[in-house]
Amino acid sequence: MENLKKTLYDANVGKFYDEWESKASDERESIISRKLDEHIEFTMKNVPFYRDRLSSYGKNGKYPLSSIPVLNSSKLRELLPPQSADIVVGNQKDYNVFQSGGTTGFPKTTIFSHEELEGLNLPNARGFFALGLNKDDRVANMFAVGGLYMTFLHINRMLQQYGCMNFPFSNHSQIGFVKTVVEKFNINCITGITSVVLNALRGMAKAEPGRIRFDKVFYGGEHIYEADKKEIKKTFGAKIIAAPGYGTIDSWYIGYQCAHCDTGVFHAHDDQCYIEIVNEETGKHCEAGEEGLIYVTPFTRRLTPIIRYRVGDRAIWLKEKCSCGRTTPVFKLLGRSDDTLRIGFDSIDYDYMQKAVGKIGRLSSSVQMEKIRESGRDRLIIRVETDAPEVEYSQIAKNLEDEIMKNRDTLRESVLNGAVLPVKIEILKHGDIARNPRTGKLTRTIDSLKSV
Ligand SMILES: [Zn+2]
Repeated sequence: MENLKKTLYDANVGKFYDEWESKASDERESIISRKLDEHIEFTMKNVPFYRDRLSSYGKNGKYPLSSIPVLNSSKLRELLPPQSADIVVGNQKDYNVFQSGGTTGFPKTTIFSHEELEGLNLPNARGFFALGLNKDDRVANMFAVGGLYMTFLHINRMLQQYGCMNFPFSNHSQIGFVKTVVEKFNINCITGITSVVLNALRGMAKAEPGRIRFDKVFYGGEHIYEADKKEIKKTFGAKIIAAPGYGTIDSWYIGYQCAHCDTGVFHAHDDQCYIEIVNEETGKHCEAGEEGLIYVTPFTRRLTPIIRYRVGDRAIWLKEKCSCGRTTPVFKLLGRSDDTLRIGFDSIDYDYMQKAVGKIGRLSSSVQMEKIRESGRDRLIIRVETDAPEVEYSQIAKNLEDEIMKNRDTLRESVLNGAVLPVKIEILKHGDIARNPRTGKLTRTIDSLKSV
């Protein structure tokens, strides 16, 4: 029974979770370089798809992957089950299948071996430890589960082994029930997708204003706005409101926050992934302070090696080291780079909207999507142009809304439970959606993380 007492928390090396976080820069760089060489060699040996693709690997160069083609999300889908097994090492079949990206139409999936899932314990524990999770804490886990969602499972696994008290609610628990358990067990931490956590907290505060307190709020999966942070601090007395992990299901954990990180700033998990920030206009790697796109090559994914994956987020490396004393580099996330909007935890891409619009008569393909924040909740606005008479606008808007919502379970549920506001459709005359005055082009998607 003694073994059971050894927890992930107990594995910490003192001020930081593990030794990687305080290694000297030159040592860190040489380890990363060796890891990358080894991973590329493994991949070329085991995955025929990559053999030509990685032939120009620049071993010993400053940026060894700079001449390797970038792998984007749609290409990755073609290489994975159910479409193919082109990057599955050794034709293995004992894996876990998870959902990636949107929830509609053709299944977008990614696969993790059982070992890879266990491997998420390290970045999870490192991130939660950096934000002060300790063994006395009592944690409500409200991450998404079911429908092939992944995060709840590995967060639950980590919490079980961390040495704290664990409450596996998931995103499906009724807020009233959560509130009862929070009071009975004096739960002091909550973790989950940002919009779900905010909705649960607001629901509890509304039921009994001023009664429930949370010390620590660990969010993930979405940006949090300063106004939300301020509200939670005031309402619940929270001392820590931060993201223990940033990553995507198509890559791996890429970064984590410590208690000193401002909103959107993350330490790099650079022993987990090889991380590049690249200016796509010049093709050059960004210096600190210069904005670019994040590409990652997770060292940890040996079932399906993923080399130079284009995450789709913009970021900058920060010049200064973090004041916490960790030597891992820090970057700031600046939002999405592509035509996808994250509404609650549904990722809605522009092509989906074009297809929905195409199914409704009398609408042109001049379509714009915008994400706004109202009363601390996301709202999706769809603007679309038509030559139909104004008397028909409300019926067209209704038809379009039905068409958009009918295939989006996640968005529909988020609207129903109040985490996200209903979609707003704006039908406009031809030419009435504002164009860029310089180029005359219509802006397809608008998403500003700054719009508090
Ligand atoms: Zn730090």
